[in-house]
Amino acid sequence: MAAAPALKHWRTTLERVEKFVSPLYFTDCNLRGRLFGDSCPVVELSSFLTPERLPYQEAVQQNFRPAQVGDSFGPTWWTCWFRVELTIPEAWVGQEVHLRWESDGEGLVWRDGEPVQGLTKEGEKTSYVLTDKLGEEDPRSLTLYVEVACNGLLGAGKGPMIAAPDPEKMFQVSRAELAVFHRDVHKLLVDLELLLGMAKGLGEDNQRSYQALYTANQMVNVCDPAQPETFPVAQALASKFFGQRGGESQHTIHALGHCHIDTAWLWPFKETVRKCARSWVTVVQLMERNPEFIFACSQAQQLAWVKSHYPGLYARLQEFACRGQFVPVGGTWVEMDGNLPSGEAMVRQFLQGQNFFLQEFGKMCSEFWLPDTFGYSAQLPQIMRSCGIRHFLTQKLSWNLVNSFPHHTFFWEGLDGSRVLAHFPPGDSYGMQGSVEEVLKTVAKNRDKGRTNHSAFLFGFGDGGGGPTQTMVDRLKRLCNTDGLPRVQLSSPERLFSALEGHSGQLCTWVGELFLELHNGTYTTHAQIKKGNRECERILHDVELLSSLALARSAQFPYPATQLQDLWRLLLLNQFHDVVTGSCIQLVAEEAMCHYEDIRSRGNTLLITAAAALCSGEPGPEGLLIVNTLPWKRTEVLTLPRPGGAHCLAPPPRPEYGSWKVEGGCADAQASSPALVTVPSMGYAPAPTPTSLQPLLPQQPVFVVQETDGSVTLDNGIIRVRLDPTGRLTSLVLVASGREAIAEGAVGNQFVLFDDVPLYWDAWDVMDYHLETRKPVLGQAGTLAVGTEGGVRGTTWFQLQISPNSRLSQEVVLDVGCPYVRFHTEVHWHEAHKFLKVEFPARVRSPQATFEVQFGHLQRPTHYNTSWDWARFEVWAHRWMDLSEHGFGLALLNDCKYGASVRGGVISLSLLRAPKSPDATVDMGRHEFTYALMPHNGSFQDAGVIPAAYSLNFPLLALPVPGPAPAASWSAFSVSSPAVVLETVKQAETSLQGRKLVLRLYEAHGSHVDCWLHTSLPVQEAVLCDFLERRDPAGRLPLQDRRLKLSFSPFQVQSLLLVLQPAPS
Ligand SMILES: [Zn+2]
Repeated sequence: MAAAPALKHWRTTLERVEKFVSPLYFTDCNLRGRLFGDSCPVVELSSFLTPERLPYQEAVQQNFRPAQVGDSFGPTWWTCWFRVELTIPEAWVGQEVHLRWESDGEGLVWRDGEPVQGLTKEGEKTSYVLTDKLGEEDPRSLTLYVEVACNGLLGAGKGPMIAAPDPEKMFQVSRAELAVFHRDVHKLLVDLELLLGMAKGLGEDNQRSYQALYTANQMVNVCDPAQPETFPVAQALASKFFGQRGGESQHTIHALGHCHIDTAWLWPFKETVRKCARSWVTVVQLMERNPEFIFACSQAQQLAWVKSHYPGLYARLQEFACRGQFVPVGGTWVEMDGNLPSGEAMVRQFLQGQNFFLQEFGKMCSEFWLPDTFGYSAQLPQIMRSCGIRHFLTQKLSWNLVNSFPHHTFFWEGLDGSRVLAHFPPGDSYGMQGSVEEVLKTVAKNRDKGRTNHSAFLFGFGDGGGGPTQTMVDRLKRLCNTDGLPRVQLSSPERLFSALEGHSGQLCTWVGELFLELHNGTYTTHAQIKKGNRECERILHDVELLSSLALARSAQFPYPATQLQDLWRLLLLNQFHDVVTGSCIQLVAEEAMCHYEDIRSRGNTLLITAAAALCSGEPGPEGLLIVNTLPWKRTEVLTLPRPGGAHCLAPPPRPEYGSWKVEGGCADAQASSPALVTVPSMGYAPAPTPTSLQPLLPQQPVFVVQETDGSVTLDNGIIRVRLDPTGRLTSLVLVASGREAIAEGAVGNQFVLFDDVPLYWDAWDVMDYHLETRKPVLGQAGTLAVGTEGGVRGTTWFQLQISPNSRLSQEVVLDVGCPYVRFHTEVHWHEAHKFLKVEFPARVRSPQATFEVQFGHLQRPTHYNTSWDWARFEVWAHRWMDLSEHGFGLALLNDCKYGASVRGGVISLSLLRAPKSPDATVDMGRHEFTYALMPHNGSFQDAGVIPAAYSLNFPLLALPVPGPAPAASWSAFSVSSPAVVLETVKQAETSLQGRKLVLRLYEAHGSHVDCWLHTSLPVQEAVLCDFLERRDPAGRLPLQDRRLKLSFSPFQVQSLLLVLQPAPS
């Protein structure tokens, strides 16, 4: 007979249920203690330890030695393969049997030569289902292999997660046994945990909370853990409760299985290949067992790795993709950083990604998926739209330190006005577990309640992989429709976004960049990676242009499409959000540097090959070809190798700072000579002969004067630069107007050091309070010396001791005819938690400054009026930034930097940081970079700041040609409007053998403009296309006198497909 109703105390009732499911307390008598029944050891365990990541076939051939539970193995990054011989006792017929495996490190089970499941304690995967129900006739003996990587889900940090890896870490196997699994106990545990979650989450004011608690309490009353026959009564109580439906107004949660795998971070790229296999093979198992479970998988690169390393697993993924359970998302090659990659590189992320998804999975992605990236460029909406994408998902802005972003579902409008539907899962995570708490948070935190009634819920262990578990799926299935909670659907991204689109009339719009108010140090950390990225973007641009021109002019030239695809993919890989950002471990940084070296050397070979093909058949003297890869005519000083000297590839040689003890500074003056050359737009010119080197008229030569006080003045008739005896800029004058650019009483080129100690994310974060620790670096008078004494080029140089351990030397260069002064800088940097910047106080007053971004620019405030303003105390920019008032401004250009700020009238460029986690060696050592200062009249658009920044980043090339170099100049393309930049010229992807080019142009001034594109190439047909190079059916352009008319709106990017005439034979 049932006991009489009793008064219940909230807390004791709750804790009673908690103890009943506790893995810690009373497991001798509670329900949790009955999850597994009988157990027995495996028959035999043996192991083989290797520093390599061997393929299965090779690993199993090795010499395995006897091993036992409790054994240690390691060190970090090694792999221990275990052979597990097992026999299931006959008495277990009819039961569900698991291999229970617990070890440090990430494990992968192999059965019959194929991976079958990941085993990772941190990812709550510690048992492998050998059989759901052991049959009488089933084989009971088998051999498995468990491949255990000597690293955890999040690497092998020594102490805190982001600490540098401990190379000596040892790992242990603590359990390897067979056990009977009680599925009915598992189900009751799931129900009780959910009821507890509701009781706690809905709180004591809520009626449904009490119903949940009383149901759980009654389940404990009726359930005797030792007597399974009592379970169905408890099950029925739970089912009755969860079967009580909610109303029509319930919010709907779209639960999507996900597994965020950082392509490299606290582990090297090669480990990621295995992380993908471990995570996704587990997902395959979940998809098999749960036909309604859907998994969203991003990053084409990771799928490409699995394709080549685990073809069997890959075939299964494709199978589940056909069934709609495995859903490729994102459309990009990797989940790249959203700030630093160039516009063209961002386009290529989608071009490589979408083509891969189409080829391998039969369709392109319809949503951009970037849950974990540190801010999002205002050009992304346009890039997405032109790559077939209308939807965007992230959650990272929930990390904002200062301001809480006002939306979870909204339209995001980019720089050009393109719009995408954006959704941030309101639970503010991409690694949910399916708890009631998270489900409630998803509704409660939703900032667009009342506008839309749908939200995403991404579940599964992430960052280091791992992914969803069966328990998570069980929880979410149970919550499909229960009064008191939102409705939970196992859903797909497509269903989510189409539900959100249903409410689009209600949604607000956010215009401009999605700035993350955190991780602002990633614009600067790891300067060599940033430099590699910028240089390699340039090299691939130049190779594609020259190869395209060679293709157009020569029937024999084979466009290096495959090689370029390899190199692009390598560059794109390193634009992953923990690589180009510098937030990776040393091992990854070293790999990235090798990748950049590979792109540089192979890229330079391709450049020379293309240049040779471009000149073949030309009459003229053998020698050098001067190439301009930019779409406007340039007259610049170029350092040419002396006849017989080494040929130089851009950039021009810089002084050997180490040998500055030599009188006059520039030690390689013997090997090269600066010459003024004019090269037409996207074309070439013959190298000047010695006799043609001299005439400078009508240009004024550069004058260099050192005063008796040690200061130096450089003057090219356009600008006059004065440096004090320590190398600081005391004056910068536009000669024609006499206008001074440096603020009164202030000095520019002032190096400053800051203490740089963030709260936790060392490599990532620079905090606002660092600004309070500003210390100007003061030089010694008398260090400034004249280098090149004038003519086509004038230089002066100095050295500066930054601190007892770090020093800097700088060459200040002014060329004839050049509107900007360059600062070639070398730093030997040995610091801890310091931040080096250089400041230029400008004689300009404006409430906003302009910063270059992908295919355009945007303004940010120069004041700290509101919290949104001061949260942007450190921002990112690409090649230039500008502070202008009406009629005058000062622009700061750079060749490899991204961090910047403008406060008041002070323009700062962030140069070097010295964080110690997760890479203790980051940025220590020698650095070389260049920035340049350009004062101008009028607006920066009219003054040519944009082409100047391009010139600094794309030096003229002096390429050796084996045969005769052409005698005359030649131009392939030019554009009639300075507002329109022809950024990219490449062969069309779709016609790898064919004579089709793709051009990408953008409007750079922020204006509506019509222009003419001129070409000397034999163009047969011209048609507009999207970024995926698909023809616009209405985009045919008439060709008139080798000209095409184009119309642009502000910051619009257009792609053009040019079909060339058959090659001349
Ligand atoms: Zn990530």
